[in-house]
Amino acid sequence: MGMRYRLSRRRLLSLLPATAVAVSAASPDGEAPLAIRNVRIFDGRQITGHGTVLVAGGRILAVGDVPSSSRHRVYDGGGRTLLPGLIDCHVHSFEGSRADALRFGVTTELDMFGDPALLRAARGQRRSTAGTTQADLWSAGVGVTVPGGHPLHPTWKFPRVTEDTDLDRFVAARIAEGSDYVKVILEDGGPPPRPQLPTLTLEQVRRTVAAAHRHRRRAVVHAEKLALVLAAARAGADGFVHGFWDTEAGPAQIAELRRSGAFFVPTLSVVDWGVGARELLADERITPWLSPTQRHLLERQPEERPGRPDFLKIGSANVRRMHAAGVPILAGTDAPIRATANGVSMLAEVTHLARAGLSPSAALASATAVPARTFGLTDRGRIAPGLRADLILVDGDPTADPEALRSIAAVWKNGRLVDRTPPNQ
Ligand SMILES: [Zn+2]
Repeated sequence: MGMRYRLSRRRLLSLLPATAVAVSAASPDGEAPLAIRNVRIFDGRQITGHGTVLVAGGRILAVGDVPSSSRHRVYDGGGRTLLPGLIDCHVHSFEGSRADALRFGVTTELDMFGDPALLRAARGQRRSTAGTTQADLWSAGVGVTVPGGHPLHPTWKFPRVTEDTDLDRFVAARIAEGSDYVKVILEDGGPPPRPQLPTLTLEQVRRTVAAAHRHRRRAVVHAEKLALVLAAARAGADGFVHGFWDTEAGPAQIAELRRSGAFFVPTLSVVDWGVGARELLADERITPWLSPTQRHLLERQPEERPGRPDFLKIGSANVRRMHAAGVPILAGTDAPIRATANGVSMLAEVTHLARAGLSPSAALASATAVPARTFGLTDRGRIAPGLRADLILVDGDPTADPEALRSIAAVWKNGRLVDRTPPNQ
């Protein structure tokens, strides 16, 4: 189910030893190769050393000990840490959101319920290595849900599933619209004051997952309760785009989730009741770069509910146990839901994952190499020859302190430096 990847001439060149590349690689865009020198390199899993990353034609040509050349343009990294661009595994895009994402180092976004009209242009961009001001986008397009079920959308009319719907045809129609994976909504609502909601039957979930697999697509599930998560895992779900926070899972349940092979995008930011947003808004490393939209979104503090369970604490305990058991954990924000904003909230989510019990390197991997592998995004998520030159440079060592990720010194998308100046409105 991996994304297709052509072995291009450029990729072949990138597989040559660095010395050969430095002599022979003509940058396809006519620009001299860019040498990002004097950086500590986090390759998507771990720090691999100190050295240079050589970039041309939007891709990484060589990593490590790259000999100097008068043909290179040089960017002195000043001993800072270079990481792969971040991949936010749960967003909803809207106009301007992908530019907001990019300015905070999120170079790829996975939309988990969005307008299929955007998908054709998104597909063109993510195949290109041309300069862009926006993060690349993959999308579920329209998710699979029932009339009156989640998400209740006041204006947007999209097709919904009834008891008569042929689910194979429904899934085929979504894929024809451009859906990259199939999003299944299993949400029965509550607890009060939230209303109870109608949702898919488990048989419909099973048939939808089977249809997605027949069409060689992943089936990802929205479920926020352990019982529904387990039911969807038994129905063959490939992954979950939220954590669950109604209860702490016990060892047998964690073991069952591990055996199912499913991955989790815990979206702790969406149940942190504004903790992450408040920290971001108080951080001088963050605030100069916020767009008015991001600031507005972060300032929407959720209303406090008397007696509310501590969803962040329960969700974090479940993340810690799943990670310890070997369940893949992927970073995602659900921006712009509740007090989250595209791009910037990933910096809070990585902190949440580290506080939940992932090592800083594992938390960073959950935002880079792990989602790339899980979603078959074979051209990104790591710093390695041949991959897309989506890179971020930060002060300090985020493998010791994940909050160092907030000190962004530079972002490159397709090898071009991103202008981080926020728009006026
Ligand atoms: Zn969502």
